Amino acid sequence: MTEESAALYVVPTPLGNLADLTRRAEEVLRTVPWVAAEDTRHSGTLLKQLGSPARTLPAHRHNENEAAARIVDKLQAGESVALISDAGTPGISDPGARVVAAVRAAGCRVVPLPGPCAATTALSASGLSDEHFLFYGFLPSKGGQRRQALEELRAYPCALVFYEAPHRVLETVADMAAVFGERRLVIARELTKLFESIHAGPLTAALDWLRADANRQRGEFVLLLSGATPGADDGEGERVLKLLLDDGLPVRQAAKLAAAITGAAKNALYDKALALKG
Ligand code: SAM
Repeated sequence: MTEESAALYVVPTPLGNLADLTRRAEEVLRTVPWVAAEDTRHSGTLLKQLGSPARTLPAHRHNENEAAARIVDKLQAGESVALISDAGTPGISDPGARVVAAVRAAGCRVVPLPGPCAATTALSASGLSDEHFLFYGFLPSKGGQRRQALEELRAYPCALVFYEAPHRVLETVADMAAVFGERRLVIARELTKLFESIHAGPLTAALDWLRADANRQRGEFVLLLSGATPGADDGEGERVLKLLLDDGLPVRQAAKLAAAITGAAKNALYDKALALKG
């Protein structure tokens, strides 16, 4: 690599199947003098398999600022650096964003390579027909905060994509069922690996499905939920409507407010309010 071409290459690496490394990623990893890696030992194995002579430097969430400064120094000295994480695309629920920001701020080139990412891999096989999706990544690990985060997502009319660890998958799916009621859930597990499985079905049945076989709770997970249907009432509209009516609001105003709060259809709530009032 010449001085003029020095760049930070953001390089996705396989999720589990080495054959998913792109030819371009392989070429970059073989030719750059430096590879900044989340875990240098883990990535050392990959570089060895590729026969890459690159030297590694650590860039993980606990040293990202110092790593960024070192990387900028290398680039300014005319040496290219490839940034990789343990698996998938750097910066996607992984360290990388701070390094990229620092490199840009220093006026150096950032070259992203397309490649493996668990979220898009799962989404492509989910069969969810939502036109849009929201990538959330990891939910909070504490139950209360997780339910709160899910509540905030309840009205979003797009597919929701989450990452989850095996020891939390049951409780997270239970919280999803409590917050979202009936939705379609896709559980994508161990993508590109030997025990890959993709299960799709009603959210409320997912807990039983997961519990039925302990192996279904093992490995790495992407959880994908279909989005809210604008105007549909999942029970929340009626619940809020009743509260407002009980508080003495007139039928029309209660229906209007309940629709505005929950996203449920106003006319249907109005009819319901009339029925409730007898
Ligand atoms: N940067 C990565 C990417 O581009 O997907 C994600 C890194 S994040 C630290 C790791 C999480 O991604 C796992 O806990 C899991 O939720 C998801 N993940 C990674 N590999 C996976 C796989 N093979 N199958 C399913 N989910 C996977």
